[in-house]
Amino acid sequence: MHIVFAASECVPYSKTGGLADVVGSLPPALAQLGHKVTVYVPRYRSTKLDGSPPVIPSITVPFDDRYRFCSVLDGGVRSGVQHYFIEYPPFFDRDALYGTPLGDYHDNAERFALFCRAVLEATKTLGVPEIFHCHDWQTALIPILLETLYDEDPAFAHSRCIFTIHNLGYQGLFPPEVLPLLMLPWDLFSMAKLEFYGKVNFLKGAIDAADYLTTVSRKYAQEIQTAEYGFGLEGVLRARAATLVGILNGVDYSEWDPATDPMIAANYSADDLSGKAKCKQDLLKEFGLAPETQLPVVGIVSRFAAQKGFDLILHVADRMAREELIVIALGTGDREYEDMFRRLNKQYPQKFAVKIEFNNRLAHKIESGADIFLMPSRYEPAGLNQLYSLKYGTVPIVRATGGLDDTIEQYDPATGKGTGFKFKEYSGEALLDTVQAAVLAYGDTQKWQRLMRNGMKQDYSWLVAAREYAKVYERAKLGRLTPVAP
Ligand code: ADP
Repeated sequence: MHIVFAASECVPYSKTGGLADVVGSLPPALAQLGHKVTVYVPRYRSTKLDGSPPVIPSITVPFDDRYRFCSVLDGGVRSGVQHYFIEYPPFFDRDALYGTPLGDYHDNAERFALFCRAVLEATKTLGVPEIFHCHDWQTALIPILLETLYDEDPAFAHSRCIFTIHNLGYQGLFPPEVLPLLMLPWDLFSMAKLEFYGKVNFLKGAIDAADYLTTVSRKYAQEIQTAEYGFGLEGVLRARAATLVGILNGVDYSEWDPATDPMIAANYSADDLSGKAKCKQDLLKEFGLAPETQLPVVGIVSRFAAQKGFDLILHVADRMAREELIVIALGTGDREYEDMFRRLNKQYPQKFAVKIEFNNRLAHKIESGADIFLMPSRYEPAGLNQLYSLKYGTVPIVRATGGLDDTIEQYDPATGKGTGFKFKEYSGEALLDTVQAAVLAYGDTQKWQRLMRNGMKQDYSWLVAAREYAKVYERAKLGRLTPVAP
């Protein structure tokens, strides 16, 4: 089967979060299963390419006020997957992917509309697939375009579209005027389609238009159909429940495995944990702390966004600082949380070490050097860091939500079973209680090592997820399932 992935980020070419990891890893796993996979992503300033001439020199994308002309660059085949880049410097040759700390770029609707139309047009030359697999609001216009402007285009008569929601919190909301600007019909501005409280909602349109929907864990697939997690789209999602599937993200173990990781101070495995102590010393030094300590190190690597639950840390920070532990945090994002971590570092320099940056090497050092990994998310569609942590023997503490709940099994000191620590209630108290339980368990080295090994034995390789996606593609090929009326 030929599958085209369209996405706004892909490792190693561009990344702000887990989406990039998925788009970098799932296509090679599908290729390993024998599928032909082509990935389309924008060519950003940060995207490093070898400078070969465009494979398509010019694609015309009509906007209401003018034509824009973009090109397609050939990134070659990587891990069995062909990569193409949509190049349009006025839109993509910028400092960041989506915006600055002050907010989103004002022309994001046009930027990603151009990308979506360019992908559809490019496939006419480079190969129309049986399946378009689109990801998040940036590519939501692909299923919408296939249902509207391209509805009668014979090129796509046999193409189906799968849409994956990686995070419902980002929907692509724009003023209604973008519809005529993007040459889209006004009848899309209705309750049944893109209209959402007076705005145009790209994600809502894709939820309606795609043949099948997936999201990145089973638990999240259920959660997003409830008012608590649905961001106002729970009703639309419930209407499509029969075509909504939760498939857990996997891990690229060629990048995230302490036995082979070249970025960490010493390699180690479940059979020989000795290297982890060196990684811990190296991590402490990296963050300006004394390398010898009996205290457990609690690692954090995250986007600093409200979703990630750092307000809970704020509530109990003073009490956490009195616990027998050291927190090491790496992240960037909302000014509010960046400032919070800076303040904690200033107030408790021996207890809260912080670096405000996006740094993959340091992320690897934290996964290997920390003893515990903290993810107190308010919601978490899949979460990748807890999966990396399991592999690195870095015991996760998570809030029991979405993919975190699906992947972490509560540790029971009596039986020695389980892989980490979970709390349900979204409160600072619940977080602190769980941190205390983990610190207590850390005191028993033998039992702790068993707990580490329980996690290290887990297998979340992408091939498992790829097989699930292949099943969805097969079902989609049969046509869109019409839900049976209750
Ligand atoms: P999300 O996609 O919501 O950001 P995930 O846990 O699914 O969360 O994925 C986050 C990915 O981004 C992981 O690969 C993680 O290591 C990486 N990451 C997040 N923040 C940073 C940072 N400051 N430096 C390096 N890597 C980071």
